[in-house]
Amino acid sequence: MLFDVLTLFPDLFENFKSESLIQKAIGNGILDIRTTNFRDYTQDKHHTVDDYPFGGGSGMLLKPEPIFLAHEDLMRKTEEKRSHTIYMSPSGQTLNHKKVIELTSYDHLVILCGRYEGVDQRVIDELVDEEISIGDYVLFGGELPAMVLIEAVSRHLKGVLGNDESLLSESFSNDLLEYPQYTKPREYRGLNVPEVLFGGNHKAIAQWKEEQSLKRTEERRPDLLSKTHKP
Ligand code: SAM
Repeated sequence: MLFDVLTLFPDLFENFKSESLIQKAIGNGILDIRTTNFRDYTQDKHHTVDDYPFGGGSGMLLKPEPIFLAHEDLMRKTEEKRSHTIYMSPSGQTLNHKKVIELTSYDHLVILCGRYEGVDQRVIDELVDEEISIGDYVLFGGELPAMVLIEAVSRHLKGVLGNDESLLSESFSNDLLEYPQYTKPREYRGLNVPEVLFGGNHKAIAQWKEEQSLKRTEERRPDLLSKTHKP
């Protein structure tokens, strides 16, 4: 999958691309992350990307011309067939597991990162397929939200995780939160690991994990529980 990021701050993505599993996935050809600074598409000598909003209001707005030109240029350069353009925005649908899985069906995600007060509405109307938010709060820009989206989607691309099976028991995969987990030592400062996890009774362990998952979800996120999960 190709992630094409339109941003005024491409350097923010350099560490993100060169660390850990994302770097490995890029190295293995599973995904790529390309950044485009739409300031490079300005046509005035001051390279202006923002201006005052018509009708007044505080702050500045990103102008349409550089974003249209940058988007047209990268679409021209792109061979991927299934393309989808996203604007990271507090007004968008809040990102969740279902949306993440849906996004894995594209070959090419173009992600527009806003700054200042956001972008001219005509950019959204003409270039953007959907707006996505990462939560009910406001950040300085769309770069961190874009990284959140890229990482969430990447984990579900085949081969990115060492063991794809770990995705199956993960939180949200079955509208449940994950069960509590323990590692060595068996006893630490008088705190013991639940007995059922020892002795190799796989059926009992599986049942315990399921019960713990349900209990935790009921306590913390009852909204996730569909009818089929209710006791
Ligand atoms: N004036 C906008 C509003 O009230 O909705 C907020 C603009 S914010 C300061 C600048 C940019 O940060 C936005 O255009 C968007 O790209 C990004 N952004 C901020 N918070 C976000 C969030 N929760 N989810 C996704 N993107 C966000």
